[in-house]
Amino acid sequence: MENLGERYYRDSGAVPLFGTVFMLGCGIVAATVLSFIYAFVVYWNPFVYVSVVATGLFGLGVGIAVNVGGTLGKVRNPLYARLVGVVMGLLSLYLCWAFYLWAAQKGDADMCRQLGILEPELSFDPMRMYELIQWIADNGLWGMFGGTPTGWGLYSLWAIEAAIIFLATVVIAGGNESAFCEPCNVWADDAENLLQLENTGYEDLRSDLEDERYERLDELHTGEHNAKDCLRVTLHTCPKCDESNFMTIKHVVVTLDNDGDEQEDETEIVNRLIIPAELVTHLQTAAGTKTQKKKAKPQAEEIEDYDEPEAE
Ligand SMILES: [Zn+2]
Repeated sequence: MENLGERYYRDSGAVPLFGTVFMLGCGIVAATVLSFIYAFVVYWNPFVYVSVVATGLFGLGVGIAVNVGGTLGKVRNPLYARLVGVVMGLLSLYLCWAFYLWAAQKGDADMCRQLGILEPELSFDPMRMYELIQWIADNGLWGMFGGTPTGWGLYSLWAIEAAIIFLATVVIAGGNESAFCEPCNVWADDAENLLQLENTGYEDLRSDLEDERYERLDELHTGEHNAKDCLRVTLHTCPKCDESNFMTIKHVVVTLDNDGDEQEDETEIVNRLIIPAELVTHLQTAAGTKTQKKKAKPQAEEIEDYDEPEAE
């Protein structure tokens, strides 16, 4: 049996120097700017819901900055991107605490009086920050649902907040779902949700496609499908050559949550399966999006260098 790993896209793992520097730069700038804004929003706005939303956006923002930095810097190593996400997540938490404690000193006269602070000071010294955090945990700073959280209650809220920021940053930072064409040194164009297909058994469809029985796609395309419970096909194709073409298929179920909002549950069936250029053209025609873009034929030597991703 053929090694199935060879049927799928594999990141080369390349981490170009420029990409590393650029990715870190984007992360550091975003972490600094967003943690400053976040700290002041959370300190001064009186609405818990606003703070919760801000927490999610903060982590999301830093994660997106790292992700975009990595994409523009051509970093093809998801593990490395995630590692940068971990570092940036920790940096974000550290910076937002420094700014928050600064905001608290500016805004809380009791705190300054009891701690003998004459002039609010922005401190990045962990020991000093720890002292201030402890004072807040003992005394509380803000009210919620008619009470002022202190002690373990407050520590728990902080832990949840930190987890949201950290996880959002790490997950988003390493979440590049596109493919890279190594010979052309460029990311693939993603045609997301190009086609919708009738849902079917995952295992059968996966083995059909791995064995190149692509006609299965036509059968599912002509069959009836429910837009709220169907398969969605995304193509990743190199903008410069015909050699790098990949297909991702997800089963998507749309349900209504308690608030009546639509919610999508996705299950991946194939992730960036290597497919021939003819199938790309065929699917684009079926979707009615076939463009007449003329692609340059890659040089023969380049193709020889890069036939199929090599098994390790
Ligand atoms: Zn290419």
